[in-house]
Formats: sequence, structure tokens, C-alpha cells
Amino acid sequence: APTPSPEGTRAYDLDRAHVFHSWSAQGALNPMVIAGGRGSEVWDFDGNTYLDFSSQLVNTNMGHQHPAIIDAIKAQADILATVAPAAANLARGEAAQRIVAKADAHFGKVFFTNGGADAIENAIRMARITTGRDKILSTYRSYHGNTGAAIVATGDWRRMPNEFARGHAHFFGPFEYRSEFWSTSQEQECERALQHLERVIVSEGASTIAAILLETVPGTAGVLVPPPGYLPGVRALCDRYGILLILDEVMCGFGRTGQWFAWQGFDVVPDLVAFAKGVNSGYVPAGGVLISESIANEFETQVFPGGLTYSGHPLAMASIVGSIDAMDAEGVVENARTIGTDHLGPGLAELAEKHEMIGNVRGLGVFWALDLVDDRESRQAVSGGVILQLKKAMLARGLLPFSADNRIHVVPPCIVTPDQVAQALSIYDEAFTEVEANL
Ligand code: PLP
Repeated sequence: APTPSPEGTRAYDLDRAHVFHSWSAQGALNPMVIAGGRGSEVWDFDGNTYLDFSSQLVNTNMGHQHPAIIDAIKAQADILATVAPAAANLARGEAAQRIVAKADAHFGKVFFTNGGADAIENAIRMARITTGRDKILSTYRSYHGNTGAAIVATGDWRRMPNEFARGHAHFFGPFEYRSEFWSTSQEQECERALQHLERVIVSEGASTIAAILLETVPGTAGVLVPPPGYLPGVRALCDRYGILLILDEVMCGFGRTGQWFAWQGFDVVPDLVAFAKGVNSGYVPAGGVLISESIANEFETQVFPGGLTYSGHPLAMASIVGSIDAMDAEGVVENARTIGTDHLGPGLAELAEKHEMIGNVRGLGVFWALDLVDDRESRQAVSGGVILQLKKAMLARGLLPFSADNRIHVVPPCIVTPDQVAQALSIYDEAFTEVEANL
């Protein structure tokens, strides 16, 4: 291997000496150095360039260094780099107006946060206050963020060491490929998942439940596209029992599914929405809660007991305005949809025909998962070792992948081109061929 550059070595050494990383035993880490990026590519200090099919943490919907977003941040930095949340600020108002305009008519206001987890915290708080109820129901296959209520609402392993918030209960959402309900069709999975949810509502005590919190399309849990009737069915249960519906669009919002908001593809309208990531592709940390008119009205006379120093930070707000305007001007949401229907969908299906290991392909837009199995009959998940080998084989060919459990998530930026998808598909193909040959 070529000798690493001094900058690359320094970046790595400083990280290992002083940076404490998320969700990891610190001693086992070997972080990749990323020096720069543009569009759907990132590079290190040593001349290696990678197609970023991770979108980092599935957040760079507009790719890296989009000039419109960078210019908007620079322009705002020259005007006013910070401001208290109580002040009225033009960039904040412009950002809120644009977000509301992309949503359905019954949404009125936005409460800005620093990211996704605190958006979830505040959505939960709003639901509890407006209903006067306490419990939050969410699914086992979910991730909602790393703070008090958000991590306890989460279903996966990250919840268990952090269960300090109270008032949470979990249920199973639909997932036909690994059904909890012995279903053999999408319709059956949908019907049984709804029946299960109603049983959980009644068993937990319907009048104690403030909200059902769902990722519209659960992301980290495996890109679990819900069957068509599921979300309308959840909405109907919420209405029947006086429960609010909070949709977590932190990962699936702002173009990822080929819609501005993922719920717009599923015939459902939530009461509260948590967003972050794609709202500005993470160029400045930002998130928020999109609030229905009727819930916002509840706080016209009642105090909302919540706030953040950086709520609606002007650099973040400018980046939101720059990003949404550029997404509009460049047809980025439409691009994500077409990439899904015309390129990734058929391309990944073809890949699965060639490679036995790919047990299931699911997704939409630029939001896909390959569920990898030892054997298609038993659907036994591949081991972590296989995923590591695949990642190594993809990196060696110039693709930065995203993996979770036994899956490779195919999650490029929404601006990805058909040529880049073709290049990625051939890298995935070669990587699977190499790893399968070594099994
Ligand atoms: N909700 C979902 C669906 C997410 O995917 C994430 C992060 O991955 C979060 C919430 C938390 O967002 P953040 O990491 O910005 O706090």
C-alpha cells in the first residue's frame, strides 16, 4: 500500500488520541479518514475517491458541498451568525415557511431543534401535553435518537442500556420478509399487524396513550416499506382511540423516498412530524417538529415548556432555505423517485437474481436494503464477518457502503445520477462475487 500522506496520518492519529466515538468500544475502532467531498463522492488525503452510497448517516440528500447551500451559509455568516431563539429572524421564518409549504395543508408551524433526537423529544412532549395522556407506543424495529425519551422509544439494542425515561411501550410493525405474524402475503401482514397494534392499544389502556410514534419507513431497522394499508390503518386506530400520530421522518423525509415527505406516498396524514438530516443535508446541525394547526393552536394561550439556545440557528436556517430552493430548482425529489423506479429498483433486483446471498431487496427512491442470508429457504441472516468482507471489497473498489446488522443499505444522495448508480451496481456485483467465492 502507498505511504499515507502526513495530513491523513495526522487526521487519523488525532482522532484515535482524542475523539470519543458513538456507539463503540473505543479500542476497536479504525475510522476511515475523509478529507473532502463533492456531490456523491468523498475522498481521503491519499488520492482515494469513493462513491458515497451511505450518504454518511443517510443525511447528505443534496450530496456534499452543494454550492447553493454553501453560499447560503456563507451569506448568512456575513449577516448574522447567531441569534437568540426568542428573536424573530428572517432566515428562520423563511425556513419554516418553506417546510410548511411542502407539507399537507393542516400543518401550520415548525419548532426547530438541533437534530433528530431532540425533535422526537419535543414531539413527544407536545403530544403528552395536548392529550393529557402519558404513554408513547413505538415499534421494536425502530431508531428514534439518542436522548431521554427518544432512545427509550427506540426498539433496537441501543434502548436497553438507556432505559431511564418512563411511559413507553413497544409493538411490532409489519415486515413481510421476517414476519412476526406468520403471514404469507402483504395483505395478511398488514391486517395482522393492525390487529396486533389494536390489541396492544387496548391492553396498554387506550385512554393512557398520548401518541403512536412511527418512522414512516423504518430506516436503520432495514428500510421496512409499510404495506399500502398499514399507515392509513394506524391513523384510523389513532382516531378511534383519541391518540395522536407522530411520524418520524428524520431519515425518510426530504426526498429520500422520492417524495418531499415519505408519508405523502402512503395515504396518511400525521399530527406531528420529526425531521432533521435531509432538511439541509446536515451541513449545519438542524432538525425540528412540524406541528399541525390544531396542536399549534393549543399553545396559543398555554405555555410550551421547552426550548433550546440554538433553536432556529441562523446558519442552519440559511442552509435549509438554500437546500430546499436548490432541491426545487433542480428537481431533486423527482430525481430520487426516478432513480428508484428506473435504476436502483430494477438494478438491485437483477443483482439479487445473480447472488444467492441477497435474500430480499426492498425500498423506494434512494432508500433500499439488501437483506443478506446464508440460505434463501431459512432466511438465516449472514454473520457480521460476511458483512465486513463485503464492506472491504466495496471500499477496495471505490464505494463507501452503509451496513446495518445483516444488511447493506443502498442509500446514495438524492442527486445521484444513473451513471453513478450503474457504477455502484457493478461494484456491488463484483464485491458479492468475490465474497461468495471465499465462503
Ligand atoms: N429518527 C430517525 C428515524 C433516525 O434515523 C435518526 C438518526 O439516525 C434519529 C431519529 C436521530 O437523529 P439525530 O441523530 O439527528 O439526533
